[in-house]
Amino acid sequence: MEITSVSLKNYSSLRIGGEGAMVVVRTTAALVEVLMYAKKENKDVYFLGTGTNTYFGENLDELLFVKIAIKGVSFEEKDDEVFVTAYAGEVWDDLVRFSVEKGLWGIENLSFIPGIVGAAPVQNIGAYGVELKDVFVSLLAIDRTTLDMVEINKSACDFGYRDSFFKKEYGRYIIVSVTVKLSKKSSPKLTYKPLDSLIGKEITLQDIRDLVIQTRTAKLPDWHEHANAGSFFKNPIVTTSVVQELRDLYPEIPALEFEGGYKIPAAWLIEHVAQMKGVRRGDVGTWPTQPLVLVNYGDATANEVDSFAAEIKEKVHTKTGVLLEQEVNRVG
Ligand SMILES: Cc1cc2nc3c(=O)[nH]c(=O)nc-3n(C[C@H](O)[C@H](O)[C@H](O)COP(=O)(O)OP(=O)(O)OC[C@H]3O[C@@H](n4cnc5c(N)ncnc54)[C@H](O)[C@@H]3O)c2cc1C
Repeated sequence: MEITSVSLKNYSSLRIGGEGAMVVVRTTAALVEVLMYAKKENKDVYFLGTGTNTYFGENLDELLFVKIAIKGVSFEEKDDEVFVTAYAGEVWDDLVRFSVEKGLWGIENLSFIPGIVGAAPVQNIGAYGVELKDVFVSLLAIDRTTLDMVEINKSACDFGYRDSFFKKEYGRYIIVSVTVKLSKKSSPKLTYKPLDSLIGKEITLQDIRDLVIQTRTAKLPDWHEHANAGSFFKNPIVTTSVVQELRDLYPEIPALEFEGGYKIPAAWLIEHVAQMKGVRRGDVGTWPTQPLVLVNYGDATANEVDSFAAEIKEKVHTKTGVLLEQEVNRVG
């Protein structure tokens, strides 16, 4: 086991973070060894994927960062269904590309979401009307309290919008592999814009993947060039009576029916209510064409990001009563 001192900034797509101790694990056995070591040394452990949903502070001495790099993919066919199991360290979008190339339907709308497979269940990744939970079967994880490998099925994951049991029980389970059920039968999900432009056309899986990638590339800043962590806030879900009050204040407000309530685009609230689209304070700002994305334009600190986010939340809350919830994790 090799523990090295690293700058966590290089493990965050927002490129923010101080120094910390890190170990890379490439096998389940190595992961268990690290967990035993951490238990013995009384160290708290933090699990790192690609860091596309995470930024770090400066106080990281108490933590051991464990980078999950366990790789491998396997397939099991049952008639028209194919059960795909990917180890946690696989790149999520490689899995999508691979599945599309094999003609397997189910995750094409989730093309181009950055990060590793092991992080995908943590916030139940979603885009263009599809969430991981729609294809999820089960996962294998190490339970830190016993160091045993456990199988966790879909209902136990308690998936919700950008949410799961793993957020509530953070740190207890380290996801080792994820199994999803894909289909050989054509089953496009085209309800969300701009995929609805494909309705009625003869389309392939690759057409959907191409349109998703093209749309995401046009709308979102490339995090390799402009440090960001995707959507900074969740889209708030509100009740029918709240949506009515919001419509009285802002007749143009978009609201999409969602799981018994209404989903309000946080980007709209940031632009029209907080009026902070394209606004910059020092090195932190909202992206000019997608204000839900906060960008580190240079040497922003975690505290600067937090106070910028707090300003947005406060403005939205004062004018609408709606509380924006942060999607991106701050550690340390
Ligand atoms: C440009 C951009 C666009 C994005 N678009 C979307 C989108 O459309 N939809 C969406 O849902 N998300 C989106 N995201 C957010 C991000 O891609 C996802 O949250 C992704 O799953 C994060 O993966 P990661 O490997 O970078 O996770 P990290 O940021 O490294 O980790 C995220 C969380 O998962 C935990 N974790 C990581 N690995 C494990 C493991 N093996 N076991 C247990 N816990 C673990 C971490 O400790 C942390 O709490 C976007 C991000 C960016 C930068």
